Amino acid sequence: MSDTRNRVSAERALWEAEAQLAFAAETTALGLFEWDLVTGALTWSYGDEASLGLAPGSIVSFESWSQRVFPEDVSATQTLIANVAAQKLDKFTFRYRIRCDDGKARTIEGAARCIYDAGGTLVKTTGVNVDVTERVEREAALRDREAQLGAIMATMPSAMVVIDVDGAIHMFSAAAERLFGYAAADLLGQNLALLVPNSARESLSAKFAGYRAARASGDAGELFELVARCNGGAEIPVEFSIAEMIVAGEPRYTVFIRDLSERAAAEQAAADLRNELAQVGRGAAMGELAASLAHELNQPLSATANFLAATVLLVSRGGDRDKVAELVTLANDQIQRAGSIIRNIREFIVKRDVEIGIEPIEKTVRDAVSLVLVGSARVDVEVRYAFEQPGQFMLADRVQIQQVLVNLLRNAAEALQDQPKHRRTILIAVRGKPGDMIEISVSDTGAGIDARILETLFTPLSSTKGSEGMGLGLSICRRIIEAHGGTLSAENRSAGGATFRFTLPAGSFEMPDDDR
Ligand code: ADP
Repeated sequence: MSDTRNRVSAERALWEAEAQLAFAAETTALGLFEWDLVTGALTWSYGDEASLGLAPGSIVSFESWSQRVFPEDVSATQTLIANVAAQKLDKFTFRYRIRCDDGKARTIEGAARCIYDAGGTLVKTTGVNVDVTERVEREAALRDREAQLGAIMATMPSAMVVIDVDGAIHMFSAAAERLFGYAAADLLGQNLALLVPNSARESLSAKFAGYRAARASGDAGELFELVARCNGGAEIPVEFSIAEMIVAGEPRYTVFIRDLSERAAAEQAAADLRNELAQVGRGAAMGELAASLAHELNQPLSATANFLAATVLLVSRGGDRDKVAELVTLANDQIQRAGSIIRNIREFIVKRDVEIGIEPIEKTVRDAVSLVLVGSARVDVEVRYAFEQPGQFMLADRVQIQQVLVNLLRNAAEALQDQPKHRRTILIAVRGKPGDMIEISVSDTGAGIDARILETLFTPLSSTKGSEGMGLGLSICRRIIEAHGGTLSAENRSAGGATFRFTLPAGSFEMPDDDR
């Protein structure tokens, strides 16, 4: 009696479940099944086999089901059912892969209800089958793509960050982790501005806005240099390049970040090398210089000896004081000259780094003039200046530029020696040139450059001064100017005399008023 009652309520539950399932099936295209564990019969709702590409009647029992389903999924299902029955669960969910007639696998997911007999034995399950193959494939493809992207992000040599319109970080590549010293996980969701120092934030957001405006008008990506800030505060020069992409209808921005400190280091290495080469060049020039040195010094020293011998003679004869003073002055001039030759050579030999700085032009020029005029008191030279604008600066090694000026001025002064007094003028002019350069020219009113050496003027040993001239000055001058990125040239002026002009990068420098 009670057996019958149980049975009726079980059937009723089943009916209810079926009604629910039928509704579910209608709305979400599910298939229904019923599995009788006592007989082993398995019934699928009509059309389900066909929709999976199976011949109708392929699945009629647990046995025939097992033959189609992947073996590991069959045993997983068996274990699942055993657990469900042991725990007397009234429902469970499952998933399995089934091989269809075309050989393709499809993935089925579902949920089932359990029906137990009076003894508590699981006798029937009934439920829904859902074909989730497309979804599973989509998910797998997505996982593949994610894995691919992950691999790219991990192996890409350049630092890359993906941000959204607000600058929030969505991806942070392994190289970016290395460059900035942050873990990606700590930066996701944070703003890109975190990667630059406070002082650069405004410029970063301006560049970003500028890029978006340019994109809106169809322009290509943008590159800009910036200072970035690493975890811990170290600042490094970097180059940002931004590219836009659309992800799920939303704009995203890929920011590639290139570390420029390596470039800066390479530039420094190149500069060091240039320094070394200049050093070697000077050393080679020294060999040639040494040969001429004896002659160079011999001349002023023997002149000094002569002047002093004459002085001694004059004094022993009780000569005129003024005459004695004049001879001593002449001797002194010669000693000065010998001294300046030695000084000059020392400056070339002593290894010193090229120290490029923003240097005042006028002061450098005037210092050079006073250096030269000390040693050439005999030559009554008028020096005129034409500074295009006061307070101009150059980007140069001041000592080297002074060497160049001293050389040019000394040559000019020597060229003026043979001129009548009213024609002994040196004009030093400074003016700006296009490309942020300045030009310094030294003109004289001498006889001009000898046509025989005009061509070879800047090669070593070009001199018209016989044993007195070393003919090295101009070749070294040109090397110095070229090392600064400028040019040195010479020409004869139509009015007579020579002009030497050289260019240097201009130094822009805002001086505070009270320092001026
Ligand atoms: P050095 O002065 O030792 O001869 P430089 O290389 O300085 O060596 O000059 C080479 C030559 O160029 C000089 O010997 C001279 O003939 C010529 N020169 C240089 N400057 C002038 C000038 N301002 N006027 C005329 N000739 C010049």
